[in-house]
Amino acid sequence: MKKWTMLVLVIIISISLIGCGNNQNVKRDSRKLNVVTTTTILADIVKNIGGDKLEVEALMGPGIDPHLYKASAGDVQKMMNADFIIFNGLHLEGKMSDVFEKLNKSDVKTIAAADVLDNSKLIESEEFEGNYDPHIWFDVKLWMEIVDVIKDNLIELDSENKDIYISNSEKYKDELKKLDEYVISRAKELPDDKRILITAHDAFSYFGKAYGFQVKGLQGISTAAEAGTLDVKELADFISEKEIPAIFIESSVPTKNIEALQAAVKDRGFNVEIGGELFSDSLGDPGTEEGTYIGTVKFNIDTIVDALLKGVN
Ligand SMILES: [Zn+2]
Repeated sequence: MKKWTMLVLVIIISISLIGCGNNQNVKRDSRKLNVVTTTTILADIVKNIGGDKLEVEALMGPGIDPHLYKASAGDVQKMMNADFIIFNGLHLEGKMSDVFEKLNKSDVKTIAAADVLDNSKLIESEEFEGNYDPHIWFDVKLWMEIVDVIKDNLIELDSENKDIYISNSEKYKDELKKLDEYVISRAKELPDDKRILITAHDAFSYFGKAYGFQVKGLQGISTAAEAGTLDVKELADFISEKEIPAIFIESSVPTKNIEALQAAVKDRGFNVEIGGELFSDSLGDPGTEEGTYIGTVKFNIDTIVDALLKGVN
């Protein structure tokens, strides 16, 4: 082959390679779109929209506390190799902000799920001025808004499977609508003044606002802050005065603080039960019903209402 022919060939190949690199619509002839999320809650929503068209991985497994989680070198590698990264945002992943900053400068498509919600729908943090509570997922209607954003991003990356993403999203939103109705109907079994939810940390404010519960967490909206003795005293007074039948531990937070609260209530001459373990910042184990968002929400509302009903005469 003559030299100039070789040169032309090299140029053509180079141009076509550059073209592929710039193409947002990832070539997926040989592999599935690779989506990495921080929490299991986000991974579940993506799996419901993408079905078998995606490889989905959550960096944090079940029972992991996202407020304290630090990305490992392996996590960073997984994110760099991903086609699409979804994190919650609003500082839920408080120890990963540097990583997200670096990713912002890379070519990997990265979104914060909470960014798509209108600020008016967010709950302002009492502890951290100017910040919002990141636990958006336990208001099912709010969570439904995230579905379309993820669907639109998937279509942008992989237009070939557009119809599948659209039909899966519609189906999933119908299921979420039914789930929302279920939570509302179970909450209504409790009189308004008995809807008081006390848990290990403030993960249920959106849940409380949506379903009419007064919510108090022993720790604030981040588990990174310790519960003070004042908080324990105040809450113990509140529980014994109101004769609240049950308080709740959480799967991603150590139980010792809630047990200390239970003991402090006992010192005041009232017995409060541990009403069960709620899933707050992560789903349950894969393969179980609570390993899905829908199963988790059902499990939580059933646990809460069943335990609090014991205080209804
Ligand atoms: Zn939390």
